[in-house]
Amino acid sequence: MLTKVVKFGGSSLADANQFIKVANIIKADESRRFVIPSAPGKRCPKDTKVTDMLYACYDVAARGEDFSPMFEAIVERYLSIVRGLGLKIEDRLTREFSTIRMSFLARAGRDYAASRGEYLNGIILAEYLGFNFIDAADVIFFGEDGKLKLNETCHAVKERLDSVGKAVIPGFYGSMPNDTVKTFSRGGSDITGSIVAAAVNADLYENWTDVSGFFVTDPRIVPDPAPIRSITYQELRELAYMGAGVFHEDAIFPARQAGIPINIKNTNRPEDDGTMITESAPLDSSPYVITGIAGKKGFVTVTIEKDMMNAELGFGRRVLEVFENNGISFEHMPSGIDTMSIIVHKNEFEAKEEEIIRGLKTSVKPDKIDIDRDVALLAVVGRGMKAQRGTAARIFAALAHAKVNVKMIDQGSSELNVIVGVTDDDFETSVKAVYDIFITQQL
Ligand code: ASP
Repeated sequence: MLTKVVKFGGSSLADANQFIKVANIIKADESRRFVIPSAPGKRCPKDTKVTDMLYACYDVAARGEDFSPMFEAIVERYLSIVRGLGLKIEDRLTREFSTIRMSFLARAGRDYAASRGEYLNGIILAEYLGFNFIDAADVIFFGEDGKLKLNETCHAVKERLDSVGKAVIPGFYGSMPNDTVKTFSRGGSDITGSIVAAAVNADLYENWTDVSGFFVTDPRIVPDPAPIRSITYQELRELAYMGAGVFHEDAIFPARQAGIPINIKNTNRPEDDGTMITESAPLDSSPYVITGIAGKKGFVTVTIEKDMMNAELGFGRRVLEVFENNGISFEHMPSGIDTMSIIVHKNEFEAKEEEIIRGLKTSVKPDKIDIDRDVALLAVVGRGMKAQRGTAARIFAALAHAKVNVKMIDQGSSELNVIVGVTDDDFETSVKAVYDIFITQQL
């Protein structure tokens, strides 16, 4: 029998109505055996996610102030779900809430507090579906260094799930060696789903959210952009700026390593195909040469100039060491014969600017250092670019046409991506121009 691991995001489980949609989706396919819920998310744009309510409530508790009204608001969110579903588990929830309240008073920690959002949603969903409930703290393990212990975790998850037919495992958290609760970073239920999928060697990891997968570009820049039907893990990494918010970057690794495809689906439109993420995808699975256009503003280019730089052994290493010693990682590093440019995040750079400039002067004695603080990066990504002549020419023609000045070009040798630096002000125009030439004019 096939096994699918299905993860549902916060908006998919925000209220009783959404729970009903989720249950219908799960019941419609016997192979949807292992379910990972997030905490209840927003019911409308102005609403607050339960995770945020828990953090805020815990902070008040930790200051020794009265947190009862905030706590009651959280209790009410869950009770309205339970009542809406007609479940008779109010006594169980009352006991759970009194344990949580006591743990808040005993300063159990912010991670513990936030994790209760998923924990309680897991209990309710398991009850509603008639599935087993497995506490993630019993099977997801972090080491002393706070990093996930993937092998040990996969082993524990597999052993536990092998003995149950169907189960709900809350997302977002696990346990430390001293048994305290630790969470992943925000949006981390995606990671739990990916781990569980890898552990049970699932045939598919379905990630259910409130959009029908990824779009070629950001809908806030290009209204109603074309959907991406299929994308490779590698392309998704190259488009990392774009996936943010839909799928956690760290969630790719476990599923990818185990060779499990990921399908991003929409709980509110289950009939839509969504986006399929796989190791390799046939070229004809996309009607366009490019798969996506992503980007971000707020970068700085530090250009170091020195005569005969190319002949100076260890020059690049010493430059990068200065950034490393200041805890700054670089995004790109285009270079010329006597120049080397390091592109870094503006906010990180500016906090360490003086130290870095001083470090560079001492370490490589440059002739000149130039700083450009107005850089946005645009990534044009697509597995179809490799086989296609003229893709770069089309990108630059489109930008020239839109009167955009290109500050920097970086093409990965995988031929999977072309990165272009433009000014912050030109960013949206650039995205639109590239979209237009590759997608609109292709339709
Ligand atoms: N509930 C957590 C958050 O809001 C984790 C998740 O939803 O994946 O970040």
